Amino acid sequence: MTIGHSPPLRAGRRVPSRVVRVVLVSGVVVAVLAVAVVVGVWQVLRPGPRPLFQLPVACGETWQLGTYPGHGDYDIDLFPTKGEAWGRPVLASAAGTVTKAGISGSLGGRTRDNPNGPRGRGGGYWVKIDHGGRWETQYLHLLEPPVVRVGQRVAQGERIGRVGSTGNSGAAHLHYEQRRNWVKVEAHFDGAPSGITHDDAEYTLRRTSRNCAAA
Ligand SMILES: [Zn+2]
Repeated sequence: MTIGHSPPLRAGRRVPSRVVRVVLVSGVVVAVLAVAVVVGVWQVLRPGPRPLFQLPVACGETWQLGTYPGHGDYDIDLFPTKGEAWGRPVLASAAGTVTKAGISGSLGGRTRDNPNGPRGRGGGYWVKIDHGGRWETQYLHLLEPPVVRVGQRVAQGERIGRVGSTGNSGAAHLHYEQRRNWVKVEAHFDGAPSGITHDDAEYTLRRTSRNCAAA
C-alpha cells in the first residue's frame, strides 16, 4: 500500500513546486520591472542643482521685490527704487534656452504715454527660459515684443526685453517667477532665498542686482 502510493506522491509534489517556481520567477520579473520604472521616473523628475540665478535687472541696481494677497505664492513684482520702470532692461537670470517669447492673454493698451489705458489679460508680452535640470524662469508684462525667440540660447545677463505694463498689470513693473519641476518655488538670487514666499499679505523687500556677467 505504501509502495503503490509513492509515485503519485512524488508527482504530486513536483507539480506544485513547478507552479511555485513560475510564481517566484514572475514575481522577481515584475519587481525588477517596477524598480526600473520607479528609477526611470525618478531620473526624469529629479531636478538638477539650482542654477546661480541673479536678479533679472541691471547689475548694481537696487529694486523693490513685493507681493500682495491673491498674487500667487512665490510670485514677485519688481519695481526700481530709483527712476521709472518703463523701458528698463529685463535680463536673463541665468543662461538657458528660450521656450516662450510672445503674448500671454492680451496686451491691453497701457503705455508710457497712456499708463492708465485699458488693462489687458494675463502676462502680456512674456518670456520663459529653460535653464536645464528642470529649472525655469518667466518674465511678464514686457513693454514690447521680446527681443529673443523660442529656441534661442541666452547667456546670463543677456537682455530679453524691457519693463512695461502689458497684460493684466496695474503699473509698469516686472512680474517674475522661478520654477523647479514645473512648480513655482521661492526664487533665489545670488544663492540666497528672495524672502518672497506666501501671498497672504502685502510685503516688500529690497535687493541689489549681482547680474553682472554680461556687464
Ligand atoms: Zn505680479
